[in-house]
Amino acid sequence: MSPLKAMNDVLVAGAGPVGAVCALALRQQGIAVRILEAQAGDARADSRTLALSHGSRLILERLRVWQKLDDVTPITRIHISQRGAPGVTRLAADDVDVPALGYVLPYAALTVALKQALAEAGIAVEYGVTVDRIESGLDAATVHAAAGRSLETPLAVVADGGRGDAAAKPRFERDYDQVAVVCDVQTELPHANQAYERFTPEGPVALLPKRDRYALVWTASKTDAQRIATMTDAEFLAALYRHFGGRQGLFLQAGPRRTFPLKLAWTGSEAAARVVRIGNAAQTLHPVAGQGFNIGLRDAWELAGLCGDTSREALGSAAMLAAYARGRRMDVLGGVGFTDFLVRLFSNDIAPLRRARGVGLLALEVFPPLKTFVARRMLFGARG
Ligand SMILES: Cc1cc2nc3c(=O)[nH]c(=O)nc-3n(C[C@H](O)[C@H](O)[C@H](O)COP(=O)(O)OP(=O)(O)OC[C@H]3O[C@@H](n4cnc5c(N)ncnc54)[C@H](O)[C@@H]3O)c2cc1C
Repeated sequence: MSPLKAMNDVLVAGAGPVGAVCALALRQQGIAVRILEAQAGDARADSRTLALSHGSRLILERLRVWQKLDDVTPITRIHISQRGAPGVTRLAADDVDVPALGYVLPYAALTVALKQALAEAGIAVEYGVTVDRIESGLDAATVHAAAGRSLETPLAVVADGGRGDAAAKPRFERDYDQVAVVCDVQTELPHANQAYERFTPEGPVALLPKRDRYALVWTASKTDAQRIATMTDAEFLAALYRHFGGRQGLFLQAGPRRTFPLKLAWTGSEAAARVVRIGNAAQTLHPVAGQGFNIGLRDAWELAGLCGDTSREALGSAAMLAAYARGRRMDVLGGVGFTDFLVRLFSNDIAPLRRARGVGLLALEVFPPLKTFVARRMLFGARG
């Protein structure tokens, strides 16, 4: 079949949050764009919970998506500690002069709001269309979709969450032998918008305020995670109490548990001529510092901004893609390095390290400029 000419349209593979934000931002720049999404339009229910930084809120506000969200729980304080050793740090929104340090929301709620915004912006989204292969060329990329369909574009944006492009070999990969067990839990004490990050030798455990409950991310080894995921509710709630401690009182109820493997994979934005990767397709991070998703949104925003600053003739050119990769390097590698450092520093029980970590947490607590530096980095990335 001959390629369907769509040369004016930037093509985005994947209507996840990153692909959808990129398309909306491109349209805001006056650039024609269309999206191909593998899942059917009504199959968007997803039980994942996302933690958005304040910086991500600003992006969504500028795209008029934030205003459509009604299921958002602000995080105004974060309590950071390690199990079995002293040293606690508390971050507060007031430290950085923002209304909230972050926001917790269901993936599905964000997807629904984005879908509505895409429709209002008149952006064509073809659901149930899987991108099979992208052929790169000097002047255009040809996107091959299911049923022998192909489309030409000056720029193909791969935002498939890293699942579509099997050929994309990460430039750097680390398997932490950790799996996240996630579910909603109800605690005896109300959350008062406080999140917890508690480091243990087996991996971090996070509680994120979500509606009147907490979203739990319990990191464990592959074997332990399997065991935790299949316990009865009563066994699970008791085990969580032993693992996390009593700061929120007892754990009273738990929703359905699911697991996902955690790893670091940095593939980078550079794919081939006329092709760029963004979001999880470019980097998949451990969720410990809540960096991965927010970096992905910044990828989308920065790429669209650069496209807007580029002449139509140069859209998707090698020079433009190189400038994009250069512009994103510090933020992305900063987030990758910071996350990897945290996971490796805290996921062990080596006594001198445990003491050093305690001193580090204490230093953060008593030295406000350091605290503000770390908080701003988490909110806005390397440019914070
Ligand atoms: C199982 C799992 C659980 C997670 N849980 C959490 C969590 O609890 N908290 C948290 O903060 N983060 C979590 N994450 C990470 C978070 O989901 C990602 O950071 C975020 O979704 C990345 O957004 P994205 O748009 O890049 O990718 P995705 O959200 O994965 O979106 C990619 C989109 O591309 C589509 N697609 C894939 N292949 C193709 C193709 N070939 N052609 C066309 N479309 C395609 C997919 O259907 C999907 O809609 C989880 C990730 C996974 C995989």
